[in-house]
Amino acid sequence: MNMRGVLIFTALLVAAFGQKLFVGDQVLRVTAKNEEQLTLLRGLEGMEHLQVDLWRSPAKASLPVDIHVPFHSLQSVKAFLEYNDIPYSIMLEDLQLLLDQEQEEMKRSRMLVRNTNSFSYSTYHTLDEIYNWIDSLVAEHPDLVSKIQIGHTYENRPIYVLKFSTGGSNRPAIWIDTGIHSREWITQATGIWTAKKIASDYGKESTLTSILNNLDIFLLIVTNPDGFAYTHSTNRMWRKTRSINAGSACVGVDPNRNWDAGFGGPGASKNPCSETYHGAYPHSESEVKAIVDFLLSHGNVKSLLSIHSYSQMLLFPYGYTNNLAPDHEALNNLAREALSALTSLHGTKYTYGTTFATIYQADGTTIDWAYNNGIKYSYTFELRDTGRYGFILPANQIIPTAEETWLALVKIFEHVRDNPY
Ligand SMILES: [Zn+2]
Repeated sequence: MNMRGVLIFTALLVAAFGQKLFVGDQVLRVTAKNEEQLTLLRGLEGMEHLQVDLWRSPAKASLPVDIHVPFHSLQSVKAFLEYNDIPYSIMLEDLQLLLDQEQEEMKRSRMLVRNTNSFSYSTYHTLDEIYNWIDSLVAEHPDLVSKIQIGHTYENRPIYVLKFSTGGSNRPAIWIDTGIHSREWITQATGIWTAKKIASDYGKESTLTSILNNLDIFLLIVTNPDGFAYTHSTNRMWRKTRSINAGSACVGVDPNRNWDAGFGGPGASKNPCSETYHGAYPHSESEVKAIVDFLLSHGNVKSLLSIHSYSQMLLFPYGYTNNLAPDHEALNNLAREALSALTSLHGTKYTYGTTFATIYQADGTTIDWAYNNGIKYSYTFELRDTGRYGFILPANQIIPTAEETWLALVKIFEHVRDNPY
């Protein structure tokens, strides 16, 4: 089938069943032995008839590459790997089986939720459920939590930020966003748990209380609402925004390649069909523009934490250049400290460093833009796991993931509180 045929066939499947199905699809873990093999792997995404989806892109030879391969191209991709003597193992045997389990769990836990205490924090939730929960949280903590609409999406959904503040005017602030890549469901779930934690601990736990007496915290839980709604309605594996690309049948822009920092360089794709397509121009995506406008108008944000999955990494600027940031030492030291706290809880191991050195060149990313615009403590978290389940992290790992991440977040909050600049 040619590309057009595949697209039409896929569209028919979606029309017939609602959700796109991934029956028999596998995720292969590939370990390239050298740069030559990495180059061969990079070429796979360009072979459009294969329809492979890189869960972890080719980076350095020491890092695994995880490739979601549709059932129809399994034979070709495996033959390609074997012919080129590239080692691989099967990470996920049948993607649809995991997705069915995930859906079952969501259905079982879906009950009438009257307040944020009866909400299930160990389950994944839909956009409507999360937006209702946000309203409950604000209603329960009117003196601490408020909801700010910072803009709307391409498909006209509101974008809501939670503001945690104990007063003052324009205090130094922390910004946290989760779910800019919509399929990274562990991140939105961690955002929800984190918001509840902040609201519950203020006034009871001394470290957080002192943090909130000095800093405001802004938390954007569903950063890519269109993409997130689409992961529930149609395609669980959707990563990008849902904007239409002029002159292309492929939808969406990678919102973590769309920022005005090294925009359009080789660490992003010019191809609208790619998962790392950078978009027509910087801040073309209304979801990105809304954050840019908010941060610039606030002007006193000291730390930006952009939360992704998966790989268990803590990354800091730069991604678009191999040059070290002027604050490299400070960023590196704080990363080490934050991760030692994170690991202390469940033993979860992270790696850390600049995006460029730790994974690969990435252009137009959130944290590089933030750093270049005066937000010194800018980090990307890549949450659990390292590739047992990848994006389909079982819901029973939500709370342990959120708990350990919280310890790292608090270290960063404390550092920002104690080191004004
Ligand atoms: Zn991501």
